[in-house]
Amino acid sequence: MSPCQVEGCKLEVPAALVDSALCVHHYLVWLDGNCAGMRRETASGVSTERHDQITTFLREHGERLSHVATGGHRLSDDMKARVLNEFLSLINLRENLERAMERAAKLRPAT
Ligand SMILES: [Zn+2]
Repeated sequence: MSPCQVEGCKLEVPAALVDSALCVHHYLVWLDGNCAGMRRETASGVSTERHDQITTFLREHGERLSHVATGGHRLSDDMKARVLNEFLSLINLRENLERAMERAAKLRPAT
C-alpha cells in the first residue's frame, strides 16, 4: 500500500485512488476545490469545449468517488458524510453547467 502523495500525510491510498495517489481525505479536498472552481467558472458562461471537459471530469470523478464509497475501503462515519456531500457537489456542478449552456443558447442569435 503506497502512502498519500501529500507531504506529511501518512494515510493510506485506497485501491480506487491509486492513480491520483491520494488518501480519501486529500482526494475529497482536491475534488471539492475543483468543483468550487468550476462552479464559479460556469457562473460566467462556458464554451462548448470547456463544457465537454467539465462533463468528462464529472463522469470520471463520479465513477472514482463511487469506487471510493463502495470499494471496500473502510470509511469513518464522518468520511461517509463527506463522500455523500461530494456527490452533491458533482450533481450541483452538473446542473450549473447545463444552465450555463441553456443561457448561452438563448443569447446566441437565431440563424
Ligand atoms: Zn493524504
